[in-house]
Amino acid sequence: MNRFKCLLCAMVLGLCFPSFATQAFALDKVSLQLKWTHAFQFAGYYAAKQQGYYQQAGLDVDIREASPGINVTDEVISGRADFGVGTSSLILERKAGKPVVVIAVAFQHSPQVFVTQKTPRIQSIHDLKDKHIMLEPQSEELLAYLKAEGVPLDSIHWQTHRFDVHDLMSGTTDAMSAYSISEPFFLDQAQVAYQVFTPRSAGIDFYGDNIFTSEKQISQHPKRVQAFRDASMRGWEYALSHKEQIIQLILNQYPTKDHRNTPEFLHFEADKVADLMRNDLVAVGYMNPGRWQHIADTYADLGMLPKHYALDDFLYDRNLPVNYLLIYGVVAIALLLASLTGGVTYYILRVNRRLAKTVAELKAGELKLKLLSMAVEHSPTSVIITDADTRIQYVNPQFTKETGYSSEEVFDKTPKILQSGLTRIDTYQDMWAHLTQGDSWKGELINRRKSGDLYWEEAHISPVFDEKNQLTHYVSVKLDITERKHANERLAHLAHHDGLTNLPNRTLFFERVEHGLKLAKRHRTRLALMFIDLDKFKPINDRYGHAIGDVILQEAAKRMVQCIRESDTVGRIGGDEFIGLMLDIGDHEHAEHLAHKICHALNLPFEVAGQVHQLSASIGIAVYPEHGEDDMHLAKSADLAMYYAKASGRNNVKIFHESMTNYYHP
Ligand code: GH3
Ligand code: MG
Repeated sequence: MNRFKCLLCAMVLGLCFPSFATQAFALDKVSLQLKWTHAFQFAGYYAAKQQGYYQQAGLDVDIREASPGINVTDEVISGRADFGVGTSSLILERKAGKPVVVIAVAFQHSPQVFVTQKTPRIQSIHDLKDKHIMLEPQSEELLAYLKAEGVPLDSIHWQTHRFDVHDLMSGTTDAMSAYSISEPFFLDQAQVAYQVFTPRSAGIDFYGDNIFTSEKQISQHPKRVQAFRDASMRGWEYALSHKEQIIQLILNQYPTKDHRNTPEFLHFEADKVADLMRNDLVAVGYMNPGRWQHIADTYADLGMLPKHYALDDFLYDRNLPVNYLLIYGVVAIALLLASLTGGVTYYILRVNRRLAKTVAELKAGELKLKLLSMAVEHSPTSVIITDADTRIQYVNPQFTKETGYSSEEVFDKTPKILQSGLTRIDTYQDMWAHLTQGDSWKGELINRRKSGDLYWEEAHISPVFDEKNQLTHYVSVKLDITERKHANERLAHLAHHDGLTNLPNRTLFFERVEHGLKLAKRHRTRLALMFIDLDKFKPINDRYGHAIGDVILQEAAKRMVQCIRESDTVGRIGGDEFIGLMLDIGDHEHAEHLAHKICHALNLPFEVAGQVHQLSASIGIAVYPEHGEDDMHLAKSADLAMYYAKASGRNNVKIFHESMTNYYHP
C-alpha cells in the first residue's frame, strides 16, 4: 500500500469510526464556556460532541455551564477557557480593552426582551418610566430600547436580577429582562398573565448568542479556531434537524442543579431557538459586518461607544460564508429572465417550492455559491428579499443605486417605504391576490426614490416556501423602466402631435371629436368644428423663406390656442390648415364669436427676424347636430363653409348653410 492509500484509509476510518481517530491521534483539549446553565440554547455544541464532529476536527471539547459570578469574557481572556458564548455586548468588552474576537453568530436575532405582568399600570414600553426593573448584566440592547422609546434611564429604579419569575408575580419588581426562549415558558406554567416587550419593535435588532475567543488564541492556534468553529456549526445544523434526539441528550447527559430542564421546556426552547437562528435563510454561523455596524451604531447613540467604531479586528472571518439569501435572489433573476420569454408560471412555482431543498444541495458547493452571490450583487436589476412579514432582509447594491436607500436603512422595514401613492389600488390588489395564492406576480409600479423622485419599475415578486410548504420569504426582482416609459410617452406624443407646432395631429384631433360627440349626444349639447386656413400664406413662404414661414405657423398656433378654453382643441391637419373643436357651445352665435376672436388674433402683426408680417385666415364652421351628426359629415360641412369664406373675400368667418352644398369649390 503506498503512502497516499494509507492516508486515505486513515481518513475514511477516522470519518466512519471516530474512536479510531481518537486512538490514532492525540486530541487537542479545549474548553467552551457557556453563558448559562445547560439548555437547548447550547444544543449545537452538545451535538457536535456527541456526533463526533469535534473529535473529527481533532478536538476534545469540555463544555462548561456557567456558575454564579462567572464572567464568560474574563474566562476566555484569562485563558481559563478557550472559547465562550457571548452576546452582542462583546463589542463593549472589546472597547474596554479585552481583546475578544467573535468567530461565528449562532442566533441571528437576540432573545433579550422585557417581561411584565399584564396590568393596566403597564400597557406599553413607555409605562416603564419610574418603575422597578431587574436587569441582568450585558443587557445594553434593552437600555438602548428604553432610550429609543424615550424612557429616561435615570427614572428607573434598577434592581438586582434574581432570575426568579416569582419576583414579577409577587410585585417585587415591575419588569425584568428575560430571554424569549425560556421565561415565557415558566410564566405560562405559573399561569401568569404577562406581556413581552421586544427591542426589535423599536428597530433595535441585535445578534443573539455568538461564539468568541481571544486574539491570542487566534494568533497561536489559528487551525484550532477554524476547526472548532466549523465543527460547532456542523453540530448546530445537526441539532436543529434532530431536535428530539438532542433534547434526550440534554436530559440524560447535561443535568442542571435547578432541574429546570424538562422535555416540555426543552421542546419550547428548541422551537424558539430555531426561530432566532433562521438557518432556513442563512448558513449557521453567518455574520454580516453591516449588522454588527448597526449594533455598534446603536451603542454609539447610547454614548457607550465612539461614533464609527471600527470593527475590523473584532470580526474573525473576513471570508464570510456566502449569504444564502443571495441564492434566492439569483434564482429569482433567472426566473425573471425566463419569464420575459413567457409561459413559465408553473416553472416558477415549482422552483420556488423546491428552493429550500436547492439551498441545501448548493451548500455542498462553496464555489457555486460564490458565483451565485456575485451574480446577485452585480445584477443590473434590483433584488429585495423580505421575510414572510414583508420585512426586508436583503437588498443588492443595484437597489441602493436605484432607490438611494442603503441596505442598513431599509433593513427590517417593508417595501412600502418606496410607495408613491400613485400606483393604482387595483394593482396592489392584483399583486396580493396572486401572492396569497402562492403564485408569482408581475406588474408595473410607480415608486418614489429617497430623493423624492418618482420612478417606474417592472416588478416580479415570488413567494418562497420551505419543505413543509410554509411561506418563508418573498423575492422581488425589479427593473427600472422609467426611461422606457418616458421613451414610450415620447413616441406616443410624436404619434399624436404635429412636429412643428406641437398641436394635436389629425389622428388625435378626430379621437377627441369622437369623444366630444359622445358627450354631446349624451348631454344633448352642441359642439362646433372649425376649419381654419391661412390666407395667401404661400407668398410669405416664397418671399421670406420656409424657415420664416415655420416661425409664423408656430406663432399662429399659439395665438389660436390662447383663444380657446382648455377643454377645447386646436389641431393642425397639414400645411397652413388648422382645425378647431369647441365643446358645449350653446348657440351658433357663440361659435361665430369664437371664430372671429381667432381671426382677430391672427390679424395682429407677426414680427419675425425684424420683419413685420400681416396675416389673415378664412374660417368655416359646422355645428353638431344641425350640420352633421358624425365627424365625417361635420368635417365636410366645415370644409365647405371654409371655402365659402375664401370665396367671399378671405379674412372672414362662415357658418355652414344648406345652400352651400350647391356651391362648387375648385
Ligand atoms: P389661400 O388663401 O388660398 O389658402 O392661399 P395659400 O397661399 O395659403 O394657399 P394654400 O393654403 O393652398 O397653400 C398653403 C401653403 O402653405 C403652401 C406652402 O407654401 C405652405 N406650407 C405648407 N406646409 C408648410 C410648412 O410646414 N411650413 C411652411 N413654412 N410652409 C408650409
Ligand atoms: Mg392657405
